[in-house]
Amino acid sequence: MNCDLHCHSTCSDGLLLPGEVARRAAANGVTLLSLTDHDDLQGLPVARAVAGETGMRFVSGVEVSIEWGGLQIHVLGYAFDESDALLRAGLEGICSGRIERAQRMSADLERIGITGAFDGAMRYAANPKLISRAHFARYLVEIGLCRDLHAVFDSYLVPGRPGYVAHRWATLADSLGWILGAGGVAAVAHPGRYRLSRSELRRFLGEFRDLGGQAIEVLSGSHTPEQVETFSRLAKEFDFLASRGSDFHGPGESHVDLGLLPPLPETLKPVWVLF
Ligand code: AMP
Ligand code: MN
Ligand code: MN
Ligand code: MN
Repeated sequence: MNCDLHCHSTCSDGLLLPGEVARRAAANGVTLLSLTDHDDLQGLPVARAVAGETGMRFVSGVEVSIEWGGLQIHVLGYAFDESDALLRAGLEGICSGRIERAQRMSADLERIGITGAFDGAMRYAANPKLISRAHFARYLVEIGLCRDLHAVFDSYLVPGRPGYVAHRWATLADSLGWILGAGGVAAVAHPGRYRLSRSELRRFLGEFRDLGGQAIEVLSGSHTPEQVETFSRLAKEFDFLASRGSDFHGPGESHVDLGLLPPLPETLKPVWVLF
């Protein structure tokens, strides 16, 4: 089994069309794929159809943007009913504020002399409803302000830096309510990415589990080997199923290509036993 349960298409902030993502995954040897666009389900039908043509299994996915403890955190949903009205309305609600947030981000960048960021970022957003910091980051690289996306997020678009503005995302309870209500399974995305102390992380994982969350991403394109060990230990301690996802956004932009992460440690129970 080569399962990749985390990646993005042009329906959010990825660079490839949903069908291209599925084809690339199959070519890389993925046997079970989930497309997990941010706050959006539009890419799922095409990705599923192309996956079917290649003989690769496919499970519905989404990466929900929430706020917890003042931080932006991502909760992955899998194997839910895509037509579920509450899930769809919840995701719409998250997206509805994104354009206005992008205008405020652009105004904040203008304060330090960076002009045209809204239009510049919009040119990268194939799905304008899903305008994200990744699109702004591409524009800031385009105008030569930074070498690459990672350099952008060192100096811009993050709390305390130009181009960052607060935004009201969903709550942890909202995200689990929508995912579980639609018959799905919830997983914590890339737990190593959050600026949480050890005790805050444990509190977060406890709340996530109490609300019905079942899995955490142990293997992620953004985790170091030490983080893989830490989250393997926490998965066992909290009795979470373990997930594996590249978080692929596009060729040249991601740490790891689709399907190319190492396998999950054998002592962990994989989340895909449920699919
Ligand atoms: P948003 O949903 O608009 O807040 O945008 C978040 C997106 O920005 C993430 O999904 C990533 O694609 C990208 N991003 C955030 N932080 C980083 C980072 N440090 N390096 C690369 N991409 C990042
Ligand atoms: Mn992204
Ligand atoms: Mn994420
Ligand atoms: Mn992601």
